[in-house]
Amino acid sequence: MIERDDLAVLDRADPLAGMRDRFVLPDRVIYLDGNSLGALPKATPTRVGRVVSHEWGESLIRAWAEHDWISMPLRIGEKIGRLIGAAPQSTVVADSTSVNLFKLVSAALTLQSERKVILTEAGNFPTDLYIAHGLATLLGRGHSIQAVDDPVAALGPEVAVLMLTHVNYRTGAMHDVGAVTRAAHALGALVVWDLSHSVGAVPLQLAADDVDFAVGCGYKYLNGGPGAPAFLSVAPRLQAALRMPLTGWLGHAEPFAFDPDYRPAEGIARAIVGTPPVLSLAALEVGVDLLTEVPMAALRGKSLRLTGLVMDLIAQECAGCGFELLTPREPKRRGSQVSFSHPDSYAIMQALIARGVIGDFRAPDVLRLGLAPLYLRFVDIWDAVAVLRAVISSGEWREARFAMRRSVT
Ligand SMILES: *Cc1c(COP(=O)(O)O)cnc(C)c1O
Repeated sequence: MIERDDLAVLDRADPLAGMRDRFVLPDRVIYLDGNSLGALPKATPTRVGRVVSHEWGESLIRAWAEHDWISMPLRIGEKIGRLIGAAPQSTVVADSTSVNLFKLVSAALTLQSERKVILTEAGNFPTDLYIAHGLATLLGRGHSIQAVDDPVAALGPEVAVLMLTHVNYRTGAMHDVGAVTRAAHALGALVVWDLSHSVGAVPLQLAADDVDFAVGCGYKYLNGGPGAPAFLSVAPRLQAALRMPLTGWLGHAEPFAFDPDYRPAEGIARAIVGTPPVLSLAALEVGVDLLTEVPMAALRGKSLRLTGLVMDLIAQECAGCGFELLTPREPKRRGSQVSFSHPDSYAIMQALIARGVIGDFRAPDVLRLGLAPLYLRFVDIWDAVAVLRAVISSGEWREARFAMRRSVT
């Protein structure tokens, strides 16, 4: 039997407890959606305000050099690279995750001219599937997409690229990056990993796992703000041969030579397309810097205790409520979220949000709770589950106002 007092004890012993105070978290809100939009770091408004008023306002165009705006994509990319265990000089911040997927899957296909299949998982995030289809159509060279339940079992000599999301957005199930990458390489396929739901929450060692390509999101566990720029990473051994499909001027070897002919920059800089979004990069850097302050092992340890606690407490407090756990119980097979299916998930989540417990709903019937270990307390889980139990036992989720679907869930 878990009691609230036991959790208060855990909070007092939590080595990450001090990080919570570095975030703006509204009173009477328990935020379980940091996997969709991370919380606001307290330092972000000051930093962005300074970039706007001082750097832009006073330095004007000189700020590109004086405040080193021009190297932000590589500088912040390098910091993210350390969070994901990538080799030095292999990660850059640019564009959105969707666009970076397009760029890297295209580059991977160019390296694999004899092979025509992009293999992925049927339950992958829709943008990943849409981008692969759109790219295959655009290339018009007979590529096909195979979206299957067990992609490793479907690897074969025709597979050019295995494109997977590390932690599944709906179920929270996590792949073994090293094992899957080895299996793909053994059959001659290149791998593109989407780390959107793992960066900043789960340990990664891209270099040690010999990962070819990776992309990921800046606004989830990195706390970079709404629509924060994304990142991409390319193994050093592939960079020299890397042919980007979007050959913008800032990926040129000498952008300020204004040469009419395109010549790619050395290394990862060729993955940059156009002028970087400086204000958004400034916000992202604050979020990334916060994560670099904490040891990844502590972050993962707390994340596993939080997700385990959600599973145990819902079993204890809401047995017989009809929630079916979708997330694997085995620690090494889950990320930092817990998902349940329930026929009335949508209305139940709306009723929770009305009471300040913010998680989200994913079609068709998934109630999703994201556990950001940087700013959640163990007692928050207790309080959130108590609200869930109250919402179910009172039947308030049946109120008509909770049934109406919103445009963003
Ligand atoms: C959040 C997420 C994205 C987001 O892509 P955007 O281009 O930023 O909209 C992509 N892939 C996965 C797996 C995600 O979870």
